[in-house]
Amino acid sequence: MSATSRVWTGINFEQDGKHSDYMRVPFSSDKSAYGWIPIPMICIRNGDGPTALLTAGNHGDEYEGQIALLNLAREIRPEDVRGRVIILPALNYPAVVAGRRLSPLDDGNLNRLFPGDANGGPTAMIAHYVESVLFPLSDLVIDLHSGGKSLDHYPVALARPGLDKTGAAKIHSLLEAFGAPYSVTTKGEGGGAGTTLYAAAEQRGIPALTAELGSGGTLSARGLSIAEAGIRRVLKVYGIVPNIAAPTSSGTRLMRSLSRDGSIYAPGAGLFEPLVECGESVSKGQKAGLLHSFDEPLAEPISLVFATEGTVLCRRFLTLTERGDCLFLLMVDDE
Ligand code: CA
Repeated sequence: MSATSRVWTGINFEQDGKHSDYMRVPFSSDKSAYGWIPIPMICIRNGDGPTALLTAGNHGDEYEGQIALLNLAREIRPEDVRGRVIILPALNYPAVVAGRRLSPLDDGNLNRLFPGDANGGPTAMIAHYVESVLFPLSDLVIDLHSGGKSLDHYPVALARPGLDKTGAAKIHSLLEAFGAPYSVTTKGEGGGAGTTLYAAAEQRGIPALTAELGSGGTLSARGLSIAEAGIRRVLKVYGIVPNIAAPTSSGTRLMRSLSRDGSIYAPGAGLFEPLVECGESVSKGQKAGLLHSFDEPLAEPISLVFATEGTVLCRRFLTLTERGDCLFLLMVDDE
């Protein structure tokens, strides 16, 4: 982590005003030997005060956050700000323009590459720049996600538990300010664990939340409205954009992801037929879905059953399934 980032930008983070440039990620290809990848970045600063780092497009096929942050970047005027807002609406830009979760340049999954590598592939370089340049500027971090092409996701805010009591309290305050209908804590087992952007922020003691706002690589109007309202509430509560119009939250229900313990994974290949919806409460032993196979056309489909009770946090969106695919993930109330 001692290596210096090779990424640079035309933005001076200490300059007042609204500035739009790029995180310029050096990338040498057949078509461009000395070129760089333009990751859009907007910095809006007005004097001293806390800094909010807002990102979306960490996975390219997740759209609610990308649109919410474009809207926000246009809307906020420098004179509205007390401190600084740094906005990256398409953090893994090569993945965004390819409409993919992963970067087509190096197959990099940005949210599995933190803390990154100054001299790695372009995706690892993006992670390293966020970690080594943007995090030290930031007092809070919001990284907006959705289910992407492969998942149907109930819209929730998601956060890590925090390293200690102080960290946990800061994260809890951020979740309350964001005010999504559901706030889920997770350690990311079965997912990104310690390699995600918000886990890297947690390591530095910066309160961070992520969100899962929609499903299947399309735009959810409900998810977009949760993102737009949540970000505005956070900017208002933390005094960064104190007079921004923000709808009142009707409160957030604190939940906990059961991670691997509340997951159903495909025991084999086949066609997945889900029998319950996201957000539905399920009981132990309840039938979750069926897995149809072509191996033995006359055999009964495999019956998938929940091993524990909970609420469906997400389920597989794609029908075609292989052994090991996550089909369901449950959450429960956090006592
Ligand atoms: Ca994601």
